[in-house]
Amino acid sequence: MPKTAICAGSFDPPTDGHINIVERGLKVFDRIIVAVAVNTSKKPIFDAEERIGMMRKIFANHDKVEVDAFEGLLVDYARAKGVHTILRGLRNMGDYEYESQMALANKTLDPDVEILYMMTEGKYAHLSSSIIKEIITFGGSGCGMIHPVVEEALRKKLRNRE
Ligand code: ADP
Repeated sequence: MPKTAICAGSFDPPTDGHINIVERGLKVFDRIIVAVAVNTSKKPIFDAEERIGMMRKIFANHDKVEVDAFEGLLVDYARAKGVHTILRGLRNMGDYEYESQMALANKTLDPDVEILYMMTEGKYAHLSSSIIKEIITFGGSGCGMIHPVVEEALRKKLRNRE
């Protein structure tokens, strides 16, 4: 049976750190479902359709990556998909604290789910969606940090907000 994992997040916007986790995840899993959280408490700059659209463009040539959206609890989504493995990235102790809480909560909600963590690669350790928004807002380049599709969308979004 093919091994599938769900890589879930807000991806507001996706960064090269997120992309790297999915690409490395494909060394371990046969298929990855990138699940974009529709409801996020983080007040997203991009709506769900925009975040999904960026992910679909980024992974257009990866036939082993499916991009989907989910609402509500991740464990409910995973169960509905028939997938029991969730893949997440870890950068630092801040991520560890948040992720360990989430993992324990998810495990309590569904003991069948397994949440696996992949350590970021050093060059992506500083990358977060919020840092990217700040860099682009103040005219910096996203080179080496975000996909050109994301940079273009972010510049457009910020222009329209002015
Ligand atoms: P969420 O709102 O669900 O935390 P994010 O889009 O912020 O969603 O992050 C999704 C996942 O990607 C999380 O596991 C996060 O720790 C991980 N992640 C974020 N940035 C990086 C990065 N630069 N390198 C590796 N993992 C990352």
